[in-house]
Amino acid sequence: MKKSIPENKSLKELYRKLIINHAKHPLNFGKPENESLFAEGINPLCGDKIRVYLNIDENNIIDKLHFEGTGCAISIASASLMTSTLTNINKKKATQYVFSLINNLSQTNPSKIDQSIINSQEIEALEGVKNFPSRIKCATLSWQTFLSALQNNNKITTTER
Ligand code: ZN
Repeated sequence: MKKSIPENKSLKELYRKLIINHAKHPLNFGKPENESLFAEGINPLCGDKIRVYLNIDENNIIDKLHFEGTGCAISIASASLMTSTLTNINKKKATQYVFSLINNLSQTNPSKIDQSIINSQEIEALEGVKNFPSRIKCATLSWQTFLSALQNNNKITTTER
């Protein structure tokens, strides 16, 4: 029996809603006062600029995570989702998760996002960006910048090398 709504169509709709909602009302947006680690990232192809701020507590948990920046709806929505997904996650696990997510979105690696670390329907919806290859770097920018922030990297992270 045929499904009335093809699976990929409903996922596209979830993707569209995810981007609109997070871009309109980004979570954890703004420069915080007391977050010790910082990095800045740019996506020159689109003009997206994101700054990521975070703090790690004595148990290696990312207890605070914020961003600010300007860019397209996808870059802002993805950054909002990044902060809400990774807050209160162990630093090592967050790092593993972000690598699996970047690999998945970039399609350099067919492996799935590591859902044993974080199981998020919103992240599944974010995978909808793969239908728009030219926008994938908009989506990965904040996650790459997060990795740089963990290193407190004062060089600007760029999606282009
Ligand atoms: Zn963009």
